[in-house]
Amino acid sequence: MDFKEKIRVILDYPQEGVRFKDITTLLADGPAYRAAIDRMVKFAQEKKPDIIVGPEARGFVVGCPLAVQMGVGFAPVRKKGKLPYETIQAEYSLEYGKDALAMHKDAIKPGQRVLIADDLLATGGTIQTTIDLVQKLGGEIVGLAFLIELTYLNGREKLGTDSDIFTLIQY
Ligand code: 5GP
Repeated sequence: MDFKEKIRVILDYPQEGVRFKDITTLLADGPAYRAAIDRMVKFAQEKKPDIIVGPEARGFVVGCPLAVQMGVGFAPVRKKGKLPYETIQAEYSLEYGKDALAMHKDAIKPGQRVLIADDLLATGGTIQTTIDLVQKLGGEIVGLAFLIELTYLNGREKLGTDSDIFTLIQY
């Protein structure tokens, strides 16, 4: 299947000069969505994860079907202030200032094998923060899976992990 033709590219969104990769066109196509998740499952199964971790919101759209299909758990990463129980936080830089992502402090047990999933790897900032959270909780990152990689931003090289990275579509 040509997955790239299922992605809609929006010019100048959310700001001028950006070519935003809109995955909603892929999600709306049942066979394409399933085939994309199947490809991620193939990669993920070899890593034998105990749990999938995904950052809000599009990381849920990818990570939850992956977890269900593999019969393992899912743990959400959310913007700070959104999770109801006790959390740990890790900061990330924005264009102006900082924000933080959070996980429940018991979302991962020390030594658990964790596979991280998201829709898109750009600069790697979101995923680096997710990696920091998982490592703070004592999780072992066994792999990372994305629908899309913007290779020209070199996010892959910047990530502080030597775990295998799978991406279905590259730009
Ligand atoms: P990064 O932190 O790697 O620079 O950016 C990746 C995050 O931003 C992902 O969580 C992703 O959802 C979002 N993102 C950035 N650019 C795009 C884009 O072109 N399309 C989509 N769907 N998400 C994007």
